[in-house]
Amino acid sequence: MLQLFKELNIEDRLQWKEHTLMFNQPEKPGTYSRFDFPPIPAPFNGIVAILRNNDMLTWPEKIKFAIGLLPAIIKGQRYVEEMDKYTWTEWLQKQGIPERVNKEVFIAMSKALNFIDPDEISATILLTALNRFLQETNGSKMAFLDGAPPERLCQPVVDHVAERGGQVLLNKPLKEFVLAEDGSVEALKIRGIDGEPDELVKADVYVSAMPVDIMKLLMPDPWKQQAFFEKLDGLEGVPVINVHLWFDKKLTDVDNLLFSRSPLLSVYADMSNTCREYEDPDKSMLELVLAPAKDWIGKSDEDIVEATMLELAQLFPKDIPNGAKLLKSKVVKTPRSVYKATKGRQEYRPSQETPIRNFYLTGDYTMQMYLASMEGAVLSGKLTAQAVAKNAPKHIAEKNASA
Ligand SMILES: Cc1cc2nc3c(=O)[nH]c(=O)nc-3n(C[C@H](O)[C@H](O)[C@H](O)COP(=O)(O)OP(=O)(O)OC[C@H]3O[C@@H](n4cnc5c(N)ncnc54)[C@H](O)[C@@H]3O)c2cc1C
Repeated sequence: MLQLFKELNIEDRLQWKEHTLMFNQPEKPGTYSRFDFPPIPAPFNGIVAILRNNDMLTWPEKIKFAIGLLPAIIKGQRYVEEMDKYTWTEWLQKQGIPERVNKEVFIAMSKALNFIDPDEISATILLTALNRFLQETNGSKMAFLDGAPPERLCQPVVDHVAERGGQVLLNKPLKEFVLAEDGSVEALKIRGIDGEPDELVKADVYVSAMPVDIMKLLMPDPWKQQAFFEKLDGLEGVPVINVHLWFDKKLTDVDNLLFSRSPLLSVYADMSNTCREYEDPDKSMLELVLAPAKDWIGKSDEDIVEATMLELAQLFPKDIPNGAKLLKSKVVKTPRSVYKATKGRQEYRPSQETPIRNFYLTGDYTMQMYLASMEGAVLSGKLTAQAVAKNAPKHIAEKNASA
């Protein structure tokens, strides 16, 4: 992601925050427990951050956790991948780490990373994140984009493509892959919008950047029998809900991401403090993630806002329910978001190269080391581009042969 911002020359749009992880303390409503990372290289900044925090973990718990983590630190990514056969809770038990560590820290972290609980999430996900925190000095440092992503991040990407002779066409949903006799892609059928007819688009090489659930829906029948594509059945998007709340007064001055550690909510931030576009010295604008969302995705917006406000009463007891008035709310439901990273999912993640000679996959669910995240999506795009470039001579030869 950072490299992308650099290439687009928009690094100044990243608003970096103090290097700390902040957790609400349910037993002391309205207060925070912090893991402060000092400005020294990794892994020492992370170790100091953990050792200095005495609100959430006792010394015996910290020592047991550090010992449990040793194999991941010493053996690295190979061990991390092998642990995909366990959920995070199973892995903690296997390593003799007390269950309280889960409750105190990792329910919040697994909800933040994949919108599910530690009893479901693969140990690989948490271990990958922890390894990054321990290996990269700024691996856990938060940055907020300074405004809405479509204008502040996507538009520069579009401009970059256009300046180099490319085109980005919006509102062109894929309806069908039209196949040639040998099962390769002959054309894309694009659904006409607003009464426009469908159209066919032909190319030398085709890349799907659609989410895995949509890719499965549009999968041509002849591909479904191939083991490579059959594996995608093992991946499915997880539901999540985003809640945006506007208040008539300031609830907090915290200028960072917060882990709510409450049953329904995951991470949240007061965007009036964290993000230039929503800056307001007098009123708060909270953005919250509600997860796990499987029991809530079918509920009404009113029910969701009501339940969120009940939890906010624990986080901001001075102002909610009495004091601050809710001016406006917006609920964004995503029934199938990133792939649900339960144990054993790694083996279902496909490579970017497929058995179809002119067809590639990309997206965060394809195999890459940065999990289901924006960073993972960007890395998968780079891996796809590398694969296409590597195969370019073959594609050119095929094109010349068919001309
Ligand atoms: C609530 C929420 C909070 C998140 N917070 C973070 C965060 O803080 N940090 C982070 O790194 N990640 C975060 N993520 C995850 C991040 O958004 C994803 O990992 C990332 O967007 C995946 O990118 P992608 O390109 O693989 O897929 P997507 O971003 O899902 O892109 C797929 C695209 O395919 C398009 N599409 C769908 N159907 C068709 C069709 N038929 N034809 C053509 N196009 C189609 C869609 O419109 C979409 O633009 C969050 C996700 C959610 C839901």
